[in-house]
Amino acid sequence: MDLGIRGKRALVCASSKGLGRGCAEALAEAGVDLVLNARSAGPLEATAQQIADRYGVSVTPVAADITSAEGQAAVLKAAGTLDILVTNAGGPPPGMWHDWGREDFLKAIESNMLTPILLMTELLPGMIERGWGRVVNITSQSVKAPIPQLGLSNSARAGLTGYVAGTARQVAPHGVVINNLLPGAHATDRIETLDRSIAQAEGIDIEAVRKRKYASIPARRYGTAEEFGKACAFLCSQWSGYIVGQNILLDGGGINATL
Ligand code: NAP
Repeated sequence: MDLGIRGKRALVCASSKGLGRGCAEALAEAGVDLVLNARSAGPLEATAQQIADRYGVSVTPVAADITSAEGQAAVLKAAGTLDILVTNAGGPPPGMWHDWGREDFLKAIESNMLTPILLMTELLPGMIERGWGRVVNITSQSVKAPIPQLGLSNSARAGLTGYVAGTARQVAPHGVVINNLLPGAHATDRIETLDRSIAQAEGIDIEAVRKRKYASIPARRYGTAEEFGKACAFLCSQWSGYIVGQNILLDGGGINATL
């Protein structure tokens, strides 16, 4: 299928590896010019070069912490006019409800709620003026079904989800669509770290943790960044214009719910 977005320009936040990179690759394959972002310059520049070589699109890497006001300003300045925004950032650390105080919540809200909201606030006016835009926020399955040890993530992402539900309907009349993609377990460094911490806490092998988790997912495996990226590219395509303010779960059937 031709996604109909060749020559458009996208910012993909937090994209030197993992799910962000999967989205960047799929957009590049569709002919979209990219602005990529991560904190560490080395891996980011390597990823940018590989994507530019593989797909022949223009790729601009901007090394910055996307959760800081300075980082957002630097990325937006380098990016210029954008048709597509994919928001993403690292997830908050795991723990117990009694581990977290005001500062922990403020940091999680800053990273996983306010950062995507402020990026949208900056970019939506231009998209509305040009009559076309696509925003995909990478959130989490924890929005639909809480992951108890990720209380900071459950809370901050629920706030973003509420914002998108209303805002998506305010901008839709102008040809701008906003949706959220909710990853379940995907094979990236992030899940490797979480699995390792479970293995350590229980004194078992990481392979045993994985096997147990696979058994709880109807697809019997973790998702891949590649398949996640293709779903994102579709939501950024010409064909997603009637999908407005939705929360689309990619979890191998892990959440046992009819709707
Ligand atoms: P990952 O493999 O660890 O990759 C994270 C990427 O984000 C890296 O490129 C990292 O580069 C960049 N990054 C992190 N913090 C950043 C910041 N403050 N500013 C700019 N770039 C930043 O993680 P992932 O698995 O792709 O996860 C992406 C998001 O999806 C996270 O919020 C995670 O919580 C969520 N999620 C993931 C899963 C899963 O199973 N993988 C499931 C549910 C939700 P630098 O370190 O160089 O900045």
